[in-house]
Amino acid sequence: MRIVVDYDRCEGHGLCEEQAPEVFRLDDAGDLVHRFDGRDVPEELAEAAARGAGVCPVAALRVAG
Ligand code: SF4
Repeated sequence: MRIVVDYDRCEGHGLCEEQAPEVFRLDDAGDLVHRFDGRDVPEELAEAAARGAGVCPVAALRVAG
C-alpha cells in the first residue's frame, strides 16, 4: 500500500508521526517528511502507516492501493 500526502493540507500537527515515526516525521522546519512518498510502504510498517493516516485531523493522508 501507499500513502499519498496532500502537502497543501498538512498543517504539521505531527499526529501521524506519533503513530508511525518510521514513516512520517516532521523536519526542523515543521514540514512533513514522508519516507515512502511515491512508493510502497513496507509490509511491516503498513499497519502503523494506515493508523497515522487515520488520525490526521485535516485528512492530508490518503491510503492508496
Ligand atoms: S497528522 Fe496530518 S496535518 Fe499533522 S503532520 Fe501528519 S499529515 Fe500533517
